[in-house]
Amino acid sequence: MKTESAKEAKKRRRREPPPDPAPLPGLVDAHTHLAACGGRDAESVRAILDHAQAVGVEAVVTVADDMIDARWAVQAAHWDERAFAAVALHPTHAGELDDAARAELEEMVADPRVVAVGETGLDYYWPGKSESAASPEVQKDAFVWHIDLAKRIGKPLMIHNREADQDLLDILAAEGSPEVVIMHCFSGDRNVARECVDRGYLLSFSGTVSFANADELREAALLVPDEQILVETDAPFLTPHPYRGQPNQSYCLPYTARALAAIRGTDDETMAGILGGNARRAYQAPLQ
Ligand SMILES: [Zn+2]
Ligand SMILES: [Zn+2]
Repeated sequence: MKTESAKEAKKRRRREPPPDPAPLPGLVDAHTHLAACGGRDAESVRAILDHAQAVGVEAVVTVADDMIDARWAVQAAHWDERAFAAVALHPTHAGELDDAARAELEEMVADPRVVAVGETGLDYYWPGKSESAASPEVQKDAFVWHIDLAKRIGKPLMIHNREADQDLLDILAAEGSPEVVIMHCFSGDRNVARECVDRGYLLSFSGTVSFANADELREAALLVPDEQILVETDAPFLTPHPYRGQPNQSYCLPYTARALAAIRGTDDETMAGILGGNARRAYQAPLQ
């Protein structure tokens, strides 16, 4: 029999889902993508959420990137009471924000199962690398529209920020922030974290906070007050250490919650209570 090469073993691990973490009750996954995790019908959504619930992840907010994804997200939130939706056009898809998309998003955010406008914001990483990514100028216009939508509908604004710290903070300051602003997958340094905290934003940490090379991000996670911290998977991406590169799902959330507890010198159960409580309050939803 042929023995597995190191390269083959690495490839196999990349397909292998991480093992279940020990349960940590009370958690809410503040940002995930159920459709991208394979949850595109009621049955597969239920399976993902059953798995999550078995380790203490009691509810999730599933987030849209484009219009097709937005329809899936809203459907998922109606298929299963543990799922809530956030809808918007992702900054890289900002060029798709035509009149029809605006009208449909307006209608969607009014749905009681939709708990946030997101993910919107700025992504300066992809323009120039991907043909289809919207330019920064187009992204800025779409971001301004989504900020206004969140304020009009009175729901949280969920922000995606990649390599755009200053423009993003400037636009939010100029437009005026909605009451609740969530910095999803926070990736800034100590100074950006401090500015967001001072403005009253919530900082949501993903598996990246547990990565070996993330000392700066851990510093940021340490200075956020208890009332302003959230945890998310951003699944299927950003699987927490030591499973980086393997497929992520909401059931992996306890790994990141425990990483945050360790960083902040809190016990796991207290940290889970803080994180879950903040998500329930931020999304103002009857989250279980
Ligand atoms: Zn994002
Ligand atoms: Zn995301």
